Amino acid sequence: MDRVRNFIDGAFVEPLAGRYLPNIEPATGRLIGEVAQSEAGDIDVATRAAQRAFGAWASRPASERSRLLLRLADLLERDLEAFAQAESLDTGKPISLARAVDIPRSVANLRFFGTSVLHTKSAMHETDAGATPGAAHAINYTLRRPRGVAGLISPWNLPLYLLTWKIAPALATGNTVLCKPSEITPTTGAMLARLSIEAGLPAGVLNVVHGAGEGAGGAIVKHADIPTISFTGSTAVGRWIAREAGERLKRVSLELGGKNPMIIFDDADVDDAVATLARAAFTNQGQVCLCASRVLIHRKVFDRVRDGIVARAMALKPGDPSDPTCVFGALSSAAHLSKVAGIVDRARNQGAQILCGGSVPAPSTLPKRCEGGFFYHPTVITGAAHDCELEQEEVFGPVISLRSFDTDDEAISLANSTKYGLATTIFTRDVSRAHAVAGAVDCGIVWINCWMLRDLRTPFGGSRQSGVGREGGSEAMRFFTEPKNVCVRV
Ligand code: NAD
Repeated sequence: MDRVRNFIDGAFVEPLAGRYLPNIEPATGRLIGEVAQSEAGDIDVATRAAQRAFGAWASRPASERSRLLLRLADLLERDLEAFAQAESLDTGKPISLARAVDIPRSVANLRFFGTSVLHTKSAMHETDAGATPGAAHAINYTLRRPRGVAGLISPWNLPLYLLTWKIAPALATGNTVLCKPSEITPTTGAMLARLSIEAGLPAGVLNVVHGAGEGAGGAIVKHADIPTISFTGSTAVGRWIAREAGERLKRVSLELGGKNPMIIFDDADVDDAVATLARAAFTNQGQVCLCASRVLIHRKVFDRVRDGIVARAMALKPGDPSDPTCVFGALSSAAHLSKVAGIVDRARNQGAQILCGGSVPAPSTLPKRCEGGFFYHPTVITGAAHDCELEQEEVFGPVISLRSFDTDDEAISLANSTKYGLATTIFTRDVSRAHAVAGAVDCGIVWINCWMLRDLRTPFGGSRQSGVGREGGSEAMRFFTEPKNVCVRV
């Protein structure tokens, strides 16, 4: 059985209290290993290691930090298959997805930030004499310095993908890192730690500490010597972190939940919209923060979209994620399956119509190995009350609800009618309408005639209850650095 230990100061160590949490394979329900259950003491030891490593790491030339990150990316690419296998085993996601998306994107994250640090420059400008009262002719330039130890906390849905999305910019800009992967999916974080030794990362620069949210994650948030917290996870935990970090005046980035609308207008390419919706709804069993969960459809094309998406959902058969032909795997845990099923059951009891799915597959329909796994059928629902839990709260599973609209204003108002503001997808052939609606929806990301088409340079994040701050590109490079303005009188 695999035992995932903490990686602190360049070595794998037992948690101080010697306690471990079980690691369960979602596709089978079987125990496959255990993961360190760290507490405040472990976090303190890791923080001290990261603090000791900080000075030397921060003062290395950016080109050297870049070289090490690119080396780590090369090693990860070399070991792609082993990482993909581990990611699929831990999460229940199809191996094909881990091979094509999770691990290649993790490699891309390391390369992107490992090279962007070579191309980032400081701002500089001249001040005119008399520009403001008392001003003399001067030159202002802004230095950007790393902030110290960065605490990085990530969720289970895209484990290495989201962890490297934080590690890469933090390290590239000269911070040292204490990161905590989700306790449900710890393996690839530990594997990356092992690769970092081979890549030549100095001890203490990257520390990976495991454990439950409150005990380990909470201790990171509260530690006095971790001034920067980057968190991706649920809105409820994000709110708690905001309070604790606010009390301590820490800098925080919060990437939280969503209730993302997809708006399909009557002038859309309906076939393309339905094909994209099938991906947007059911990729990774609907466990991507960007997944579309509310589908707003113009009344004229409602029946076509409904019939098309139901046919596609019914064709998706839950299967063994380790099978290369599997495209729809297991949910991440028994607790999460029960949450998803509970929301659908309550919607059904309140009168919503389940067009397909809405149930756990019978064990006899699953591969023998997977009979005890946490599977749920792709589910399409219509007729739910607008203010019910299904329409207002994040499900984070393979469940979508359909609703019709008549006018653009109505679509915009429905799109904006939850507390979340992460991503909106719009399908229309009318360029003016596309721009008008994109401007009017209150969220951080809009896709027009596409979904999850990512460019790592763009600002990534949500508005309202979907988060605070942005990741990606120069936003991340700014987040992990402290600006210092220097004014030189000429
Ligand atoms: P979660 O909030 O339960 O946990 C996320 C991480 O935070 C885990 O590592 C967990 O151990 C840790 N954690 C839990 N309680 C903590 C606490 N009190 N202090 C510090 N850390 C704590 O979320 P999850 O169930 O792992 O992930 C699913 C959620 O993540 C969904 O809401 C999804 O929308 C969100 N998510 C958002 C994005 C985004 O970019 N906006 C991306 C992926 C997932």
